[in-house]
Amino acid sequence: MGKSNSYLIKAKDGFILVDAGMPGKTERVIKVLREYDAELNDIKLIIITHVHNDHVGSLYDIKRKSNASVLVHEKEKNILEKGYNKFPDGTMFFSRMISSLANNVFFSQDQFIPVEVDIIIKDEFDLLDYGVDGRILHTPGHTEGSVSIIIEEKFCLTGDTLFNMFPNSVYPPFANDEEKLIESWKKLRENNCIKYYPGHGKDFGLKKFDKTIEKHIKK
Ligand SMILES: [Zn+2]
Ligand SMILES: [Zn+2]
Repeated sequence: MGKSNSYLIKAKDGFILVDAGMPGKTERVIKVLREYDAELNDIKLIIITHVHNDHVGSLYDIKRKSNASVLVHEKEKNILEKGYNKFPDGTMFFSRMISSLANNVFFSQDQFIPVEVDIIIKDEFDLLDYGVDGRILHTPGHTEGSVSIIIEEKFCLTGDTLFNMFPNSVYPPFANDEEKLIESWKKLRENNCIKYYPGHGKDFGLKKFDKTIEKHIKK
């Protein structure tokens, strides 16, 4: 979906979409749905892992054309309805530079069309009503209202809480609160998921997650 990933989860009578990519990516979703003989209004729920424009860029358009409900953590409801978020803080030398440039020079970096929120969550949200054996967990750190999704206690969709763009680490280059991020990682790790689906980069296994945990938690 541009530089970020979106995911479709098969639900009862339709699909759940996780994140809505960069602006102008609605066609991409339509194309994938078509492979399952489905169309946009088969999307019943859109879960936003966190409100950054690479995850909500096409949300306004997809919501309008699908009529799906939009779910977001309560801490990010106002941001989504306002249409602007600050660029996140860098956690590494190069990403600190990018973050500082984005916030001070390119003010427009993290703007998007505001979207009205239908469902807000606090700590946890069960997806059983959508016919999915899964739940959403609050995993703050990258942003205050970041959430992750666990499916069948096996698969974990992490948004930018884990970030698979480097060969030996899944530590995100951007996070507003690194202490909270580590706490969220511990919470995710308790679930023993075998496969992780990040907001950026390809899916990866538990081994890579464990390697990064060791590096950052022992540090
Ligand atoms: Zn992000
Ligand atoms: Zn992102």
